[in-house]
Amino acid sequence: MTVILGGGISGLSAAYYALNDVRLSSVVLLEASNRLGGWICSRRSPSGAIFEQGPRTVRIADSGKNTLNLVEDLQLSDKLIHIGSHHHAVANRLIYTEDALHRVPTSIATLFKTPSLLDRPLINRIWTDLRAPRVPKEDESIYSFVQRRLGQDIADNLISPMICGICAGDAREISVNFLFKSLFEAEQKHGSIVKGLLINWLKKVFSKPEGEKDNVSKRKDNANDESTARSLTLAERAQKEHWVLWGLQGGLEQLPQTLADNLSKRGVNIQTEKRCEKLMFKPDRVELLVNGEPQECSRVISSLRAKDLAELLQEQHPTLSAELKAIPTVTVGVVNLEFQENVLPLQAFGFLVPPKENLPLLGVIFDSCVFPGSSTVLTVMMGGAWFEKYFGKNPSEEQLLMMAIYHTKNILQIEEEPVAHNVAILKDCIPQHIVGHNARVKRIHNYISTHRIPLALCGSSYQGVGLNDVILSAKQAVRDVVK
Ligand SMILES: Cc1cc2nc3c(=O)[nH]c(=O)nc-3n(C[C@H](O)[C@H](O)[C@H](O)COP(=O)(O)OP(=O)(O)OC[C@H]3O[C@@H](n4cnc5c(N)ncnc54)[C@H](O)[C@@H]3O)c2cc1C
Repeated sequence: MTVILGGGISGLSAAYYALNDVRLSSVVLLEASNRLGGWICSRRSPSGAIFEQGPRTVRIADSGKNTLNLVEDLQLSDKLIHIGSHHHAVANRLIYTEDALHRVPTSIATLFKTPSLLDRPLINRIWTDLRAPRVPKEDESIYSFVQRRLGQDIADNLISPMICGICAGDAREISVNFLFKSLFEAEQKHGSIVKGLLINWLKKVFSKPEGEKDNVSKRKDNANDESTARSLTLAERAQKEHWVLWGLQGGLEQLPQTLADNLSKRGVNIQTEKRCEKLMFKPDRVELLVNGEPQECSRVISSLRAKDLAELLQEQHPTLSAELKAIPTVTVGVVNLEFQENVLPLQAFGFLVPPKENLPLLGVIFDSCVFPGSSTVLTVMMGGAWFEKYFGKNPSEEQLLMMAIYHTKNILQIEEEPVAHNVAILKDCIPQHIVGHNARVKRIHNYISTHRIPLALCGSSYQGVGLNDVILSAKQAVRDVVK
């Protein structure tokens, strides 16, 4: 029997991929709380507007195809709302600094102008990067890497707020070798980001002989003919129609809910209000303590945050436990606000706030620009790496609400009061992939394989925090656990 710990999207996805593996005959999923979905939580305002407390949009890039395949398998395609590269929520991304909202430069034309956010045109940074010396390193913070190679204004005004948006984190702590691996490797191998990216691009273009290129083109043509003959898969449509982001009509929580229904129908034993308190790996079995009761299984897939798993392993594997505990997390305050009228100065994805502004806001998402409805819905993200600095150890929801309304109205110059709201303090919700993360994860995996522990890991602590990352990590964990 395989036990999966955690009923968030990665634990549920692990159960889904485990069902496809004939070697994993019986699967039990244990969830400590009384609901499934973890951080994915969609609520409704009295008027019926969706308040997403956790994630709301999923990217198409990177491992987005894998997630779309899952969505299609679950027959959720009809509910999918997607937006492309020309949509205002993709084209207009804003940063609030020095008392004004600034557009993030996205088009080629802006390369030659000095954007209001920066000291010099972006094109000048090519020379800055080419002139900057290579500094051999294992890893460093994203902030220091960007400051060294591209300039302090980019580190402060573009990259730092971007990191707040990605993981509610501090760019001075997050690992460049983890989050911007290809840029870091470009410097380490070729001495500059620009040189490295150019060499990699040229290698790709010239690595295939002419004949082979023809075959590739032929295969592509055949594939195109085939896919037009049959109806396109969701992932093929996304590629063909240049989708950038998607969400679900009625809220993203339908993804874990539909997945859980699908798993239950196919025989996965899903148990809520079952907290695993301890794991002991014996030569022939795994002993678990669940709600104070002993249980047994043959292997475990953990989708828990690394620091929660660390507690379960503390007694038997203190070294592994210490490594897991060293992956920190941050707390985010989420405030959803609904306004009756259109109160926004422009249609955009939202705005991010650089940490140097010393505001408690990480950013505000304009939900109703991505998913239009009859009212304006905004989500204010607060705290993150600076949660305690602005809110102390035990702030009240009222305190967060007041601050969110005050700053949002002030920045967006809104006169109206919100007609509905939802406040949540999401404690330790986002793991931080800090400097040295790749090396730490490698040590964790080495420890598990050297000690032949029948344990595989998935979830946001290891390979990335996006939904695509955690769903893919679940697929990998199933492969790892049967090895
Ligand atoms: C505010 C916010 C906004 C986000 N926005 C986006 C977005 O727009 N797009 C995107 O792609 N990603 C986004 N993310 C990231 C994404 O939501 C998460 O990475 C993802 O939901 C994590 O899922 P998970 O299953 O790995 O973990 P979790 O959701 O944390 O699930 C873990 C589960 O394990 C359970 N558990 C804990 N301890 C035990 C135990 N001892 N025994 C049994 N069960 C236990 C928990 O109760 C929980 O249900 C956002 C995250 C947050 C917090």
